Amino acid sequence: MDEIYDFVVIGAGFGGSITACRLAQGGKSVCILEQGRRWKNDEFPRTTGQFRKGLWDPKETYGFIQYRAFKRLDVIQGCGVGGGSLVYFNVHLRPPDEIFNQSSWPENISLNTMEPYYSLVKDMLDAVPLTPPKGYELPPKTEAFFDAAEGAGKETKLVDIAVYTGPDRNAPHGDRTQSACTYSGNCLIGCNVYAKNTLDLNYIPLAEENGAQIYPLHMVYKISQEPDEGYRVYARRLDEEQHGQWEEVSFVGKQVIIAAGTLGSTELLLRCRDEYNTLSNISQKLGECFSINGEMIFAGTLFEDREVEPGYGPSITSYADCSTANNKIIIEDLGFPTPLLWYLEGILPSDTRLSRLARFLKIYLLQSIGIRNRSSRFSEELDAITSGERTTRFLPYLGLGTDASDGILYLRDGSIDIRWSHRGSRLMYKELVQAMKALSKAANGKYFASPLWRWPLRKLLVAHPLGGCIMGNSSQDSVVNHNGEVWNYPGLYVADGSVIPSALSVNPSMTIGAIGERTAFWILHNREMQLDDSETPQKN
Ligand SMILES: Cc1cc2nc3c(=O)[nH]c(=O)nc-3n(C[C@H](O)[C@H](O)[C@H](O)COP(=O)(O)OP(=O)(O)OC[C@H]3O[C@@H](n4cnc5c(N)ncnc54)[C@H](O)[C@@H]3O)c2cc1C
Ligand code: SF4
Repeated sequence: MDEIYDFVVIGAGFGGSITACRLAQGGKSVCILEQGRRWKNDEFPRTTGQFRKGLWDPKETYGFIQYRAFKRLDVIQGCGVGGGSLVYFNVHLRPPDEIFNQSSWPENISLNTMEPYYSLVKDMLDAVPLTPPKGYELPPKTEAFFDAAEGAGKETKLVDIAVYTGPDRNAPHGDRTQSACTYSGNCLIGCNVYAKNTLDLNYIPLAEENGAQIYPLHMVYKISQEPDEGYRVYARRLDEEQHGQWEEVSFVGKQVIIAAGTLGSTELLLRCRDEYNTLSNISQKLGECFSINGEMIFAGTLFEDREVEPGYGPSITSYADCSTANNKIIIEDLGFPTPLLWYLEGILPSDTRLSRLARFLKIYLLQSIGIRNRSSRFSEELDAITSGERTTRFLPYLGLGTDASDGILYLRDGSIDIRWSHRGSRLMYKELVQAMKALSKAANGKYFASPLWRWPLRKLLVAHPLGGCIMGNSSQDSVVNHNGEVWNYPGLYVADGSVIPSALSVNPSMTIGAIGERTAFWILHNREMQLDDSETPQKN
């Protein structure tokens, strides 16, 4: 006889962990099915040799970084108990009010209505501007970024980051000891001192303290309706030892929260609607309004004689508002993502397109940063870059903006594919590049374009995919309603980046987390939470 949960939650990232935690605190029986595994700090890779085990490639490795290559875009995501928080750069920003005023958003959602949920996420994840740990100062790249942005006349600030900088302590929940950030710059490859306030240090253990059960290595592939019982969720329980082996299992939930991330949730629902025909009345809008959040990385400023040490300090510390009359745009100091290059090297042998990407990066690094030894291996160059004198003077940027959100997610041969073109977002990208050039000029540095974005590649690396199961006012214009319930399927919810109907122009996890908080609150109370609401969920 199946155990019947009040809620089966699919995915343990921002949307899934937060919704599951609040539902469990609200007295519901909850289980979370997560395809990846749990990670401890001493398991994160630290050398190029170890790096392969950090990749998600379930036939060979159950790593925590998933990389999916598509024709015009490559998408990088977290995978495991904690989802994107395991790899992310810890930045928490509310989008500008104007984002919610667009017609693509449901009528009853605004920055104002979202504020109580944003406050909860900020509080739980302890997202605050960087206070340097004892004995440290603000990283040089932060100072360099401030000088560049202020020189260009842009408003700039330290951004809220979920990074702990105090004395050793027990994490707010669970049994981990957190130490202060060591400025290692390794935020992408897992924090080995638990200074990153990842979801497995707060919401996830709090959910477990309230009875939630977590099933790692459970990859969901189908959902069907159960007569009188809610929904049956079908999963493959991946064998911990034997890669490529699994056992078929299923779970029954009176209600189900899908939070497998933008690509994962959309792919799952497309399969249920179009392949298995188990949820065949899902809106025809499924897969539409895909956005890459106007993202661009790898462009930056090379200083003539200023050391910025981009690999030193949390990956992102500050931002500048570079909005124009046409678009909301922000630029952040990215830190030099050395681990990303390790990662690329780790997957090169199996993917020729990525080899090309790496070649572009190599040429870019050789030409732009001035390393002359063209015959050396990529890893040798990497060592040269990281220890050489020139990259210490290179300040990379992350740019985000209001792209056109006009991509399409669809199934091709049973797997998700992306139709995306930069055409609708051309002006936004032009303005973003102009803003980056202005920062470089103001800093008396030289601007270097992203090698990926140069013609003819015109490719982007995406860490903030949004949309596909968007929320809205009716089944004609959206897939889910304002609190995430799938049109025509009562008790079936989506709560992750896929419900966001437009670019946010800021890093999205705070908004995804707030949407998770809101979905849970509406399920439990069927109304909007207010600031100082008597039903506000507790931190402990
Ligand atoms: C390198 C990097 C840096 C980033 N930095 C920032 C930042 O500083 N600030 C910010 O706001 N955002 C950042 N992001 C983006 C942020 O991580 C994502 O926007 C966020 O994690 C998305 O939340 P989500 O709940 O939609 O999905 P996720 O957090 O991706 O969680 C989805 C989970 O579902 C699981 N899953 C998928 N399919 C299935 C399935 N079929 N069965 C079971 N489980 C499944 C996945 O393994 C994953 O754990 C960054 C991303 C990357 C890659
Ligand atoms: S920079 Fe700080 S938060 Fe990031 S991985 Fe290193 S110690 Fe952890």
